Amino acid sequence: MASKEAIEVIEPATEQVMAELPRAGAEEADAAIERAKRAFPSWAAMAPGDRSALLHRLTNAIEERSEHLATLEARNAGKPISDARGEIGMVVETFRYYAGAPERLTGKTIPVAGGVDMTFREPLGVVGLITPWNFPLTIASWKVAPALAAGNTIVLKPAELTPLTAIELEKIALEAEIPEGVLNVVPGPGSVCGKRLVEHPDVAKVAFTGSTEVGRGIAEGAAATIKRVTLELGGKSANVIFGDADLEAAASSAPLAVFGNAGQDCCARSRILVERSAMDDFMSALEDAVKSITVGDPLSEQTQMGPLISADQLHTVSSYVNGDAPVAFRGSAPDGPGYWFPPTVLAPVSNDDRPAREEIFGPVACVIPFEGEDEAIRIANDTIYGLSGSVWTRDGAKALRVARAVETGVVSINSNTSVRVSTPFGGFKQSGVGRELGPDALEAYSELKNVYMATEG
Ligand code: NDP
Repeated sequence: MASKEAIEVIEPATEQVMAELPRAGAEEADAAIERAKRAFPSWAAMAPGDRSALLHRLTNAIEERSEHLATLEARNAGKPISDARGEIGMVVETFRYYAGAPERLTGKTIPVAGGVDMTFREPLGVVGLITPWNFPLTIASWKVAPALAAGNTIVLKPAELTPLTAIELEKIALEAEIPEGVLNVVPGPGSVCGKRLVEHPDVAKVAFTGSTEVGRGIAEGAAATIKRVTLELGGKSANVIFGDADLEAAASSAPLAVFGNAGQDCCARSRILVERSAMDDFMSALEDAVKSITVGDPLSEQTQMGPLISADQLHTVSSYVNGDAPVAFRGSAPDGPGYWFPPTVLAPVSNDDRPAREEIFGPVACVIPFEGEDEAIRIANDTIYGLSGSVWTRDGAKALRVARAVETGVVSINSNTSVRVSTPFGGFKQSGVGRELGPDALEAYSELKNVYMATEG
């Protein structure tokens, strides 16, 4: 039995302990903040080209370890190895994208009387990064790469359930000659280490991805020291399918848009809104697609969906599919050890029902019928969340009208993709504050400084 000071890392497909490591507490968090604070002046002062070269070196070192990192992530998070490879590919792409950024952090000159006015983007200092268990290293990279590029030093607190790839990243960074203290990883509980990052006066900013509930607490805690925050929180995204859409394409793409990563995805299109006239055709195509999803061993190349992350998550997700739930059809799931839950479609569901209102974070989709464009928009927006969503139609003007009317940070037309390294990602409403990725993320890790120089004699 592990001591309270050890984190037992469980493999969700087998329920076996795959690693034990020391659990960091407030003292370790403080020490990491102190190391980051000491490392900051020279990292911030480094010539942009030199910082860029080190970030390129780090990118290459991560790329060399891709298969090892993907296997670790697949086992620890229970995700299919093919997905894990794609995610580590995105980690590499993210580091490469921001490796070029130190030399592109340009300011402006602004015409003024009596002199010259110019702006600079200055680093913030020590930034605290708190990441979840669903896409562990990917989400860490969205924060670490722009934060380092902008000249900050970092304390990263991964989720206790999935700390292994973050710990590897810290080692890889040292091997790639990122100076000591620039990137520090603190594997410990959110209620202790995460809270310390939020409260500590030497931390200038907290960037967090996780539940809306914890995000609210972080925003409150950060207020005490007026910390900058970026919050990427929950979602309950709508996949709006009009009767004039390519229904085959919409139905074949819909399942993995909600069951991918076993539904543990803040962008999951977990509310499938279908125009009433297309319901029968869509549902029959959806049933075939859902029943053909391969659920099983994350390390098998054929697997499309793995287990849930934990026994707690299995318990929570199961509570949405009780005796009264209108189960239309389900896919399969293995028996035996592991936190398995089959892909499940509830239909028809009202948008007022609990499974349509709450972020289930598991493989449960609600199909909600609608009549016409106005009702589709009203239902899509009838939620506290506003992260992602899709519109399927062959009518280009209608697609753009609906995309503009949906209150979310990211919308796809005739596609269910949400995230690209080079484009901004983040939420409206209670899905968060701020944007990650793309060119704008650098602004979230720097302060705008205005300098005026008098030039008149
Ligand atoms: P949390 O929001 O609790 O966890 C996310 C991260 O925040 C973890 O690193 C966690 O640490 C940390 N954390 C927890 N409490 C605090 C705190 N008081 N101060 C600072 N950091 C803290 O998500 P859960 O893991 O509990 O998942 C619960 C639900 O949240 C899911 O079912 C899902 O609905 C949603 N969720 C949404 C995500 C998203 O991408 N939008 C991602 C993950 C969850 P630790 O866990 O190590 O204690």
